[in-house]
Amino acid sequence: MTVVHTGGCRCGAVRFEASAEPHHVSYCHCGDCRRASGAPVSAFVGFLTEQVTFTGKALKMFENGPVTRSFCGICGSPIAYVDERLADQIYFMLGAMDMPAYFKPTHHAYVREQLPFLHMPDALPRHLKTSVPRPDGQGPDGTQS
Ligand SMILES: [Zn+2]
Ligand SMILES: [Zn+2]
Repeated sequence: MTVVHTGGCRCGAVRFEASAEPHHVSYCHCGDCRRASGAPVSAFVGFLTEQVTFTGKALKMFENGPVTRSFCGICGSPIAYVDERLADQIYFMLGAMDMPAYFKPTHHAYVREQLPFLHMPDALPRHLKTSVPRPDGQGPDGTQS
């Protein structure tokens, strides 16, 4: 496998590699990501699951409805989420990547849950809900003008 991108947790017990460029890089302003990360806004780097391999034995999972988030069981760093409606995809926390500056977000998701004091004056598309359409029809329901 040709490694293109690598990442991992803060303590190094969880490491991963991706063999391709990401298909999606986005901010997420939703309350669930906020709870999971502790940060006012999260950002995610999406790959196809088949392009990704994990090493180490510390990866833990937390399942909440269709979304399962993974984190390091030793240092607690959030790592990624998978959504059972997007079965072939995995979205890593941008901050878990070894070269985070490489992954420039191209969308804002869930801006209807964005914190009122958070101002990000870029011209990126803003989605009221998800920026990645789900097969069950819960796709982007419009952009903020
Ligand atoms: Zn760790
Ligand atoms: Zn979110």
